[in-house]
Amino acid sequence: MPAPHETPSAPPSATQSRQPAAWRYALLAGFVIQLLLVLFVTLIGLRQLDLATRNLETMADVQMRKQTYAKAMALTARQRTILIFMMSKTDDPFERDAQLMQFRQMGSEFVAARQGMLSMPLNPRESELIERQRQLIAEAQPIQEHIVDLIMEGSDRDVIDLVLKEAIPAQNAVQAIVTQLDAATQLGVIEASRQARAAQDLARRWMLWLSALALLIGGIVAVRVLRYTTRIGHERERLATHDTLTGLPNRMLFMDRLEQALARAARRNLMVGVIFIDLDRFKRVNDTLGHASGDQLIREVAQRLREASRAEDTVARLGGDEFVVVIGDAAGVNDILQVAEKMLAAIGQPYHIAGHELFSSCSIGISVFPNDGADSSMLLKHADTAMYHAKQHGRDRIHLYDPAMNAMAEERLQLETDLHYALARNEFQFHYQPQLDLESGRIVAVEALMRWNHPTRGLLAPGEFLDLLEAGGDILKVGRALLQEACREAVGWHAAGHAGLVVAINVSGKEFWHEALLANVQEALAESRLPASALQLELTEGIFMEDMHSAIERVRQLKALGVTIAVDDFGTGYSSLAHLKRFPLDALKIDRLFVRDLVNAPVNRALIASILALCEGLQLAPIAEGVEEPAQLDALRALGCRLVQGYLVSRPVPAADVQALLQRDWTDAFRRVAPTIG
Ligand code: C2E
Ligand code: CA
Ligand code: CA
Repeated sequence: MPAPHETPSAPPSATQSRQPAAWRYALLAGFVIQLLLVLFVTLIGLRQLDLATRNLETMADVQMRKQTYAKAMALTARQRTILIFMMSKTDDPFERDAQLMQFRQMGSEFVAARQGMLSMPLNPRESELIERQRQLIAEAQPIQEHIVDLIMEGSDRDVIDLVLKEAIPAQNAVQAIVTQLDAATQLGVIEASRQARAAQDLARRWMLWLSALALLIGGIVAVRVLRYTTRIGHERERLATHDTLTGLPNRMLFMDRLEQALARAARRNLMVGVIFIDLDRFKRVNDTLGHASGDQLIREVAQRLREASRAEDTVARLGGDEFVVVIGDAAGVNDILQVAEKMLAAIGQPYHIAGHELFSSCSIGISVFPNDGADSSMLLKHADTAMYHAKQHGRDRIHLYDPAMNAMAEERLQLETDLHYALARNEFQFHYQPQLDLESGRIVAVEALMRWNHPTRGLLAPGEFLDLLEAGGDILKVGRALLQEACREAVGWHAAGHAGLVVAINVSGKEFWHEALLANVQEALAESRLPASALQLELTEGIFMEDMHSAIERVRQLKALGVTIAVDDFGTGYSSLAHLKRFPLDALKIDRLFVRDLVNAPVNRALIASILALCEGLQLAPIAEGVEEPAQLDALRALGCRLVQGYLVSRPVPAADVQALLQRDWTDAFRRVAPTIG
């Protein structure tokens, strides 16, 4: 099963995340202003109306009262004139007394009315009239008093004359003023209502303006809200269906498009290709150049895939470094393969990222409708399986789906499950392969090689399960247990008379960098009491390349325990000799690739010769791996290589069989048969 990929996360852009908040605040402010305006308009309107009504009410009240007072004044003044006249005509002294009383009564009523009038708010015109009236009364009063005195004394003739000629005209003058006063108050009422109307007009105008403003703001806010929500809606939809890093459709949209393509192809009897693309060793770019560069690489790959496809094909990103392409309406498998080949070539072109020239490749798996599946998820699954096969077969290639792949995938899944129980069930063990010293004819070391004694499938070599064990993280526990076992075995062989025999253990990169390694080695040595010098650790070249500084430090720590270190598979990696010089190493294992063609390819012979020279210079013990044929052994001996390991000497054997190998005398085992190398 394909391992899960890490997904380079695309951080949401800052503007994207800040904008909605700003918008929300702006909209909120708009709403609040609008609400306040409406509130303000209502308040002002109510207040103005209230004011106007109240003004009118008081005005009406005041004017009514003023009119009442004015009328009372006019009435009492007239009554007094009439009473004077009547008194002058009356002979009966009783009746005259009664009239006099009424006359005085009218006087007090007049005064009261006048007082009332003065207590009212008066406009200048009214004040002026009241003042004028006061003067006239001041003139008319003595005359009236005089006439009343005369009447009471009984001198009739003079009295009538006085009444007609003086009292009545004086009274009329007062009367005229009172009438004017009445008219003036009438005018006041008109003025008050005019003012009230003006206040109402003002209120109406304000309300109109403010309402218009509120309406305008409301309109703007509404339009903005509408635009904003539609934009958010579009953005949501885009986010839900597209990958943020590359802008390509995501899995959801891809599935949708694939289904559409399938439906169309089924109607027209055509094919649909699903191309599954996974970058090779993408993690390395991420780890060495950082996530930003990884992201940039992904974007660039997306761009190239888009360019390599037709407009009607869908290129989608599933996540991490996985892409998938739908080729719709294909007439045959060849059409689909052509696109895939174009893509493989496009991905292989160099990249320029962060000042580096990078090379990348991809593994491609293809499934085809209707041959490899009838529905979208089946096709995707099968394309994925095919891609995984491409990876397993060396990457940078295209594999078409084959039903047999499924069985293999299932088998692997089963193996993965079984692996979980293997350690607890003690199913791991070491087999040992001897290293022969050609000069002494003795076995000087054995390499411990891991085997899994699978309950149903028998003995499995590391090639079948080691990557699963590493991926699952169990390699550390298994390595620790086996290391202890190997040390115990070695102590046994030492005791049986083979003191000095070295046991070599393979250490993977994962184990090497794990903090527990040092303690594990120490513990195994201490528990078994094996001399540290009898333990050799084999490290592959890659480890020395990863982080040289830390690697040197770590090798030093291991050496400080007393163990020796060998470089494994030398020549297959890229480690430069200059690099190796800086490590405190003891042995170097020449990879079996060089040994294999040693006899037929002079180049390899020269290569081995130079490696041997290097070892001499660096004081490393060279060990040739994979020696299978006597001719190879002869050639190695001729080149001056003392230590050999390979099937020719012995295959890896169980611990119980080691003893027999150790006891054997190998001196004559590989005598030079014929001078094959000149
Ligand atoms: P390696 O360290 O290069 O081990 C040598 C491999 O070559 C072994 O395969 C061995 O069986 C095989 N071999 C030996 N002589 C010959 C020969 O004459 N011809 C051919 N064709 N092959 C020969 P094996 O046992 O399958 O191990 C494979 C790899 O697995 C080892 O390569 C080593 O890298 C790894 N490995 C084995 N045991 C362990 C272990 O305990 N821990 C770790 N971390 N890795 C291990
Ligand atoms: Ca090895
Ligand atoms: Ca090796």
